[in-house]
Amino acid sequence: MARESEFIAYMRAFEASTTHLGACPACQNDQPCATGAPIHSEFIARQDAWNKRVRAERKQP
Ligand SMILES: [Zn+2]
Repeated sequence: MARESEFIAYMRAFEASTTHLGACPACQNDQPCATGAPIHSEFIARQDAWNKRVRAERKQP
């Protein structure tokens, strides 16, 4: 995936996750609901992928 699209996907996943969290008491209580669970895990996956990319880039001279 291109760097830019990966960042955009990460930001979208972040937004979706925080929007859902703001409206869902179960997810706020660390008990992700059926709707929220995939949204939050998508965000975590995107965040991981992005952090890995940034870390890999820093290692380059
Ligand atoms: Zn939820």
